[in-house]
Amino acid sequence: MKIICIGRNYANHAKELENSIPSEPVIFLKPQTALLENDRPFHIPPWSSDLHHEIELVLRIHREAKNIASCDSQFYFDEVTVGIDFTARDVQSRLKAKGHPWERAKAFDDSAVVGRFVKLEELEKPIGDLRFQLTKNGEILQDGHSANMLFPVSDLIAEISTFMTLKPGDLVFTGTPAGVGPIKSGDRLEGRLEDRVLFRVAVQ
Ligand code: ZN
Repeated sequence: MKIICIGRNYANHAKELENSIPSEPVIFLKPQTALLENDRPFHIPPWSSDLHHEIELVLRIHREAKNIASCDSQFYFDEVTVGIDFTARDVQSRLKAKGHPWERAKAFDDSAVVGRFVKLEELEKPIGDLRFQLTKNGEILQDGHSANMLFPVSDLIAEISTFMTLKPGDLVFTGTPAGVGPIKSGDRLEGRLEDRVLFRVAVQ
């Protein structure tokens, strides 16, 4: 399986990092070794001193998708959760300045937290109308809504499938809203989708 991530998909987040609004989705990958599931603790890597949380809506693909149309995207994913795209912001800034790829800052072990998956039919609302939040030590730091995506889920799946075949089990991280920030040892992170708590991660 592979993990496909979208960057700068919320205008308020692009703005907080002083990035321009993209004219097409910014897409990057994380390897399977990045997965952090089942509320395992997260260990801050020793080579970063500015490790950020980015909460994101995460989709699970359940049918092979290649060159599909936006209007058919709904037939290719069946479960959703919230996750964290952990980002070593100091490393990413260094790489961005040189125009280098982001993998060192984004694709390291345990950098892709995923919560418990919820079947689409269990949700009370459509995919484009979901509120999700990240709390740190009980305080809400990120409060996002899928209606605010620059590129909605249907367009993302279609766009990815124009150049990369999506396979059952692949995950799509759909971008983070504003409010990203640093974590430190001892922090407790919690991810919520609507009224469900889908992950709890202790930072060590
Ligand atoms: Zn992200």
